[in-house]
Amino acid sequence: MTTLREAFQEASSFLEKCQIDDPAFEAEWLITALLDCTRTQLFLSWEHQLSTEQIQQLHGWLHRRCKQEPLQYIVGKQSFYGRDFIVNPAVLIPRPETEGLVERVIQLISDNFASDESLYLVDVGTGSGAIAITCALELPQLQVIAIDRSSAALEVAKQNTRKYGLEERISFYNGDLLSPLESINVQAQIIVSNPPYIDQTAYQGLEKQVKGFEPRLALDGGEDGLTIYRRLATQIAHLPQPPRHVVLEIGYDQGKTVPELFRFLAINGCIQ
Ligand code: GLN
Repeated sequence: MTTLREAFQEASSFLEKCQIDDPAFEAEWLITALLDCTRTQLFLSWEHQLSTEQIQQLHGWLHRRCKQEPLQYIVGKQSFYGRDFIVNPAVLIPRPETEGLVERVIQLISDNFASDESLYLVDVGTGSGAIAITCALELPQLQVIAIDRSSAALEVAKQNTRKYGLEERISFYNGDLLSPLESINVQAQIIVSNPPYIDQTAYQGLEKQVKGFEPRLALDGGEDGLTIYRRLATQIAHLPQPPRHVVLEIGYDQGKTVPELFRFLAINGCIQ
């Protein structure tokens, strides 16, 4: 018989031996995911017994973590803007800094549009759908078009959309950047994207936990990291009608180069 307390101690010392930086924190993360409970519930039930299946599952998870697999893929979810999103290796794990991008979209829309004005937002490279879904949940007047080159990523985004009951408000298209817009007759007021923007050298130097598991398509921005921004700028320039706002996540050192590429739009709202 193993209690939660024993399982926690075993998990922490296993992770510590595998050189995981914060073994106690990660052990807690895995056990709360295993029991689908909160940290508080965990602390209140240290003497609770785990079933044999739960122990086996925990052992499997610990072995995967020792090979540097991200915790989020192991437990199959990540929190973004206070909500859980299903993730798997087909999608980038949503990052806390991307919550800032969503904040910017919310602020732009509340400053520039009436709250009952219906608007179209396009999320380019939707991945797990974290941006598209959070924007739809926070801004009820939005209709969202979510695009991704990866059909496996779109499957994850669709699962998340069902989880939040947004099937009526988010439509999905498989394609390269804005190209699916050619076949749908929609005038989008807002384009948002967290594209791949890591340059080749930085990509090669990424830690195993990222480079070895997360999709290259979601991270690698080509030789200088700007390839996707350049192509997106060209596609936006060729739209029959320009969007009112383009909101992009960029790398810490791209604060001059990316706005330059979009200067033709007098771009609003690039964040670093
Ligand atoms: N839009 C998704 C996110 O921000 C995926 C981004 C990507 O794959 N580059 O999490």
